[in-house]
Amino acid sequence: MTVPIISPLRIIVPKTENPLVEKFYDTLIIQTKPNVRLRDSVLTQKVETMKKRSIREKNMDTIKIVQGDITTAEVDAIVNAANSRMLGGGGVDGAIHRAAGPKLLDACKKIPSENGVRCPAGEARITEAGNLKAKYVIHAVGPRYGVDRPADRLLASAYQNSLDLAVSHGCRSIAFPAISCGVYGYPPKEAAHIAVSVGTLPEYKAMTKYFYLFSEEMAAIWTTALENHSII
Ligand code: ADP
Repeated sequence: MTVPIISPLRIIVPKTENPLVEKFYDTLIIQTKPNVRLRDSVLTQKVETMKKRSIREKNMDTIKIVQGDITTAEVDAIVNAANSRMLGGGGVDGAIHRAAGPKLLDACKKIPSENGVRCPAGEARITEAGNLKAKYVIHAVGPRYGVDRPADRLLASAYQNSLDLAVSHGCRSIAFPAISCGVYGYPPKEAAHIAVSVGTLPEYKAMTKYFYLFSEEMAAIWTTALENHSII
């Protein structure tokens, strides 16, 4: 297939800082160059170059999506989707405590608590990691969807506070589960968008961020969120 040629005589490209607008004009110019028939392969190459540039500019290459069990992650810090009491629980929390052994619970108990709350929703705490390969466990408490509000801000800050703790403890790599997407009921597509948006912030450029998704379906949702991020 060849790309249809529109042949305007002149294109005036307005100055813009907006990458989406820039990309639009970029594409327009490719399609409208007079007397040039662009073959699919040329266009594909150009689009790939644009994508690569976008990936670099948006730090997307510092994000890795893995389908699997987060307790096996070989990273500096493993993030636990904890509850505010931080004494273990079900889901990924239970899996992390089982794999880390009793040292992790002992470390959690040392975190100061107020009325049983060691970590409110949207915040994070760091402890040693017991038998895990990681140096630290970062306990992040996501919002209970429909209960803790505003859910989007609380979820973003759970991710961001975890990353800040990792940075301040000299970590270079971190593994996240899909915080709040289990028992806490956060819609996965929206959660993935938030996770990717925070993960690509420039201040965390030096950190490799792994997202461990338990199911194929969740891994696909995160992959789509990451792909969409490159064209937003
Ligand atoms: P929350 O209470 O924050 O919703 P859950 O533990 O219920 O946390 O679920 C968070 C996500 O973690 C869910 O998508 C769940 O399928 C996933 N999960 C459960 N066990 C593991 C594991 N071992 N590794 C990675 N993800 C896991």
